[in-house]
Amino acid sequence: MTTYNKAELDFFVTAIKEEARTVIWKVGSNADPQALVKSVLEDLEALAPRDDGSDRRSEEEIWTQVRERLLKAAYATRPHCIRCGTCCTTGSPTLVVQDLDLIARDLFKPQQLTTIRKGEMTYSVRTEKPEPAVRELIKVREKPGTRTCIFYDTWAKNCSIYESRPYQCRQQECWNPESIDTIGEAEPLDREALLRSVGPLWDVICRHEERCSHAELGRIMARLGATSGQTVEDVMELLRFDHHVRHFITEKLDLDPDAMDFFFGPPLSKTVELYGLQVEEQPDGSFLLTMVEQSG
Ligand code: SF4
Repeated sequence: MTTYNKAELDFFVTAIKEEARTVIWKVGSNADPQALVKSVLEDLEALAPRDDGSDRRSEEEIWTQVRERLLKAAYATRPHCIRCGTCCTTGSPTLVVQDLDLIARDLFKPQQLTTIRKGEMTYSVRTEKPEPAVRELIKVREKPGTRTCIFYDTWAKNCSIYESRPYQCRQQECWNPESIDTIGEAEPLDREALLRSVGPLWDVICRHEERCSHAELGRIMARLGATSGQTVEDVMELLRFDHHVRHFITEKLDLDPDAMDFFFGPPLSKTVELYGLQVEEQPDGSFLLTMVEQSG
């Protein structure tokens, strides 16, 4: 049978009550913190630190588990959307086949979307850390420097396209962690589904993908540490091609430059920053590639 150190357990229960207040405030529930703790007391006792030497969890891991349990219970006390904005400020939606109708109605402009190409590092809701995308995704853009969807009105605290919001937003129940799995079953859209019929543009997208895929960039970057001269030139060539294609399509089709993130994904000059490189465009149109000093 599990044994507890009495003083530690008392402290644990007091800290849990404090945490319950924070969690209830966070989810916008009117529940009583005491009642919330009571409703999940058995689970919380099971999560408490054990002092019989069998507990290998760090203090941080224990608190993460406790917070997750309290959060689940708190969301259950308000099982409907109260437009708190949590899902709108922690990542924009991915478009899926159920959104084709919205696209056919021209509700999204290309400059409001971005493409996450296969292999691109992207934030995973499931693991809560960046991971390479296993397939291509089309997402609504986020406000610069944030994870807030561009359709979220921060001042009014509401969605500016609420009646026509994408499938993921309609399905997502932030009070129900299991809803993430339901969304995961929907078929994501990709550029081929949306742009294949736009002949010449689609040909350029395919050519760009062959030449500037994330797999190719990763291969060149892996060589960068071992060799220098030729590999740096390979990186520059990739950057020049990526830059040229965007410029060419913008001019040729008279498009908003912001639409290029949808057609070709974010520029490689931004992506290489993940590899510790910085790119500056020079007045003559050439690029200067420098290593970023790594702190620590
Ligand atoms: S489309 Fe609307 S509901 Fe969906 S994340 Fe953006 S602001 Fe929120």
